[in-house]
Amino acid sequence: MSDKELTFTPVIGIEIHIQLKTKSKIFCTCSADYTNDEPNSHICPVCMGLPGSLPVLNRAVVQQGMLAGLALNCSIVSPTLFFRKSYYYPDLPKGFQTTQSDLPIAASGWLMISDDAGSPKKVRINRLHLEEDVGKLHHSASDGRLEGAETSWVDYNRSGLPLAEIVSEPDISSAREAVEYVTALRRRVRYAGASDVDLEKGMMRFDANVSMKCSDGRWGRKVEVKNMNSFRALERAIEFEIKRQIKVMREGGEVLQETRHWNDAKEVTRASRVKEFYRKFIVEPDLPPMVVTPEWIERVKATLPEMPDQKMARYVKELGLTEVDASVLTDSRDVAEYFEACIACGANPVRAGNWIRTEILRFMGERQVGAGDVPVKPEALAELVRSVDDGNLSTTAAKTVFEAMLEGLPFAEAVKKSGAVTGGLDADALAKVVSEILAGNADVIEEIKSGKDTKGKKMKFLQGLVMRETKGQARPDEVSAAIEASLKS
Ligand SMILES: [Zn+2]
Repeated sequence: MSDKELTFTPVIGIEIHIQLKTKSKIFCTCSADYTNDEPNSHICPVCMGLPGSLPVLNRAVVQQGMLAGLALNCSIVSPTLFFRKSYYYPDLPKGFQTTQSDLPIAASGWLMISDDAGSPKKVRINRLHLEEDVGKLHHSASDGRLEGAETSWVDYNRSGLPLAEIVSEPDISSAREAVEYVTALRRRVRYAGASDVDLEKGMMRFDANVSMKCSDGRWGRKVEVKNMNSFRALERAIEFEIKRQIKVMREGGEVLQETRHWNDAKEVTRASRVKEFYRKFIVEPDLPPMVVTPEWIERVKATLPEMPDQKMARYVKELGLTEVDASVLTDSRDVAEYFEACIACGANPVRAGNWIRTEILRFMGERQVGAGDVPVKPEALAELVRSVDDGNLSTTAAKTVFEAMLEGLPFAEAVKKSGAVTGGLDADALAKVVSEILAGNADVIEEIKSGKDTKGKKMKFLQGLVMRETKGQARPDEVSAAIEASLKS
């Protein structure tokens, strides 16, 4: 068999760390939100692991862990244990990390994605376990890396933040599928309210296990690629690793089982110089076995909202939205809830969806705010949509009313401020405006009547004048009908 006939199938599993949304850390009462605060200003003897300090498990972490697990279709496991994973590193003052490891709170979940051919594909989730985060090292080198740094500092603010590690089965076959998987996972966890999963704040980090199966029967060994903290880095790292392993196997070499680190600036993976050593696990003697009662699980289940993919299917089936529109409206929970509140106030779903997709999302993007902070409340938008539907407000007038509502005015006041008149324009009023406009544009009428306006530009010009004069109150189709009638008479 020649080289060219060989084909390779990537076999990929992904481990994701997400920061759970809680007020305090996992084993102490230090605040979990230290954004912009001084280094080492959110620490105590417990999260520093000082002698004599005792961890107390934060109930909210367990609750959020269950919520995330349920959102990923996992079963909740009880009782479970915490272990000490012993290793020494400057970002870990205790000398061990407290983790659930192989006895996780949630297991056997799954997520649906579409494969590279566009068919539905199930990615199985092995487990979700709880653990504490470690501190953060800052190096003085210009690129922030250890290499070439003269000084390093350590900030323990992150030490003890609650993490959930989510481990997939090796069901992923391409970088694209990997990105789809993490996108779907992120959306669900955020919907559930278990984490803000803000990538820029480091609330979601990825490692990927990549190996290759060759059509000649060879299996490459598993390589663990670490250090990705964006969707793009995950995608690029997997693409790089697939190409690298194929090259090694084509040349008859052997892919070594190793840990490699992704270098985001150079876009390559490099073998880690630190040898992965055997890490000893012992049961954490300071924490009792963790028990969650069936009643508690049921209570958490009851708080789980409708998930985005179910919502999307429902919007298409019951509300008549296109898949693209439904996907935009369900991308975040606050926008979906805004949309549903509009409909509950009697707005037509398709038209309300259009306003939200265009105007509301544009405003949210410009101001960097959530749907809850948009000055136009769902009731007000529903009123606007209904007025257009009833013919009380023209589309053009509705735009100016909307602008006024964005300043925080309720519907009725916004209508007043924009100068729009609800109730539309009756035929007599429209005929009056049309005759006034035509009277002032005799030259234009001459051109139209002499047949020079083949492209209808002059006609459009007259319509525009009428629309402006009526402050957008008239319906465009009625305006053109009125002009045509006038011209014939
Ligand atoms: Zn603390």
